[in-house]
Amino acid sequence: MTSAADRAARWVRPAIQAMDGYAVADPGRAIKLDAMESPWAWPGALETAWLERMRKVAVNRYPDSRGRELKAALRSGLGIPEGAGILLGNGSDELIQLINLAVAGAGRNVLAPAPSFAMYRVIAELTGSGYAEFELDDDFGLDPAAAAAALAEHQPAVTYLAHPNNPTGNGLDLDAVAELAAGADGVVVVDEAYAAYAEASFLPRVLELPNVLVLRTLSKVGLAGLRVGVLIGAPAWIKELDKCRLPYNVGSLAQASASFAMEHAEALERSVQAVRTERHRLAGELAAVPGVEWVGPSQTNFLTFRVTASPAPQLHAALRERGVLIKCLDGSHPRLAGCLRVTVGRPDENDAFLKALRASLPSG
Ligand SMILES: *Cc1c(COP(=O)(O)O)cnc(C)c1O
Repeated sequence: MTSAADRAARWVRPAIQAMDGYAVADPGRAIKLDAMESPWAWPGALETAWLERMRKVAVNRYPDSRGRELKAALRSGLGIPEGAGILLGNGSDELIQLINLAVAGAGRNVLAPAPSFAMYRVIAELTGSGYAEFELDDDFGLDPAAAAAALAEHQPAVTYLAHPNNPTGNGLDLDAVAELAAGADGVVVVDEAYAAYAEASFLPRVLELPNVLVLRTLSKVGLAGLRVGVLIGAPAWIKELDKCRLPYNVGSLAQASASFAMEHAEALERSVQAVRTERHRLAGELAAVPGVEWVGPSQTNFLTFRVTASPAPQLHAALRERGVLIKCLDGSHPRLAGCLRVTVGRPDENDAFLKALRASLPSG
């Protein structure tokens, strides 16, 4: 009889065995500023009302497979254009997987700019899709020539554009997005995970082109634990993609919580505003720290910055030692050498980060 390890090695598909898997850092007791979570969920007064709402959810029943109540709440809450279809996902990651299952897969390519969201590659690999990249320009914006060349070379079934972009924080020029989509034969997904913090959205234009879908999530505005992603596009696309969705992919507690959140959008907006205010303060203080060479412009709830005074991985470890977890980007892309990414937290958390940073840099 062979061991479980032998059996797994024999039967798990080689493409899966070759994957690294997505490593999520264990925060332990550290201040967690690595994953773009909001530091706030429900403000105190709303928590009781939310719990009351949860009591009414019949968890012995399956959730509404079509998510009707939540979709109606999202239509007004997010300003979804009339006539657009909606698909709900267990986070937007699941929707990316679902798009690849339906549209990409073996023998087809997925395209994304570099550097961009790490999950585009992971989910392409997971779905057996080919994966190709094109470089962003010097300011991490879209380079139309590089994009056009990549479209011609790879003929992608799906192109993912994160606007604003993770891990660089900048927004994309939406006319350049439209131009890219007009030149693409396959579907173009504008991933607006950070829409709440951005200056502009492609959502009002989603139906203007026949091949554009817009992706949203509640994860970056205080509801990461719910796992609710939202895909918006022409009904012809949504109808087909919906066939790849497992019938009960979004639980009833998540649906009810997300509906509740949409009804209290002004409370969410207040916490988004507070994060923006902190982002502005943090960016200013960070730029003034000796050894910090560059702080990228951000339309998100994080800041990407480059250090010269100390190697980024060492600095990352030193911050961890001092009880602050951020993300090291060094090594993920040549142009992110020396870069780290910090999520904007509560004022006291941001102060603790700044203090640990100053103490960890040689000049500090
Ligand atoms: C965080 C993030 C997501 C994933 O969001 P979930 O809805 O939590 O799965 C998608 N795209 C980008 C660009 C992100 O940064």
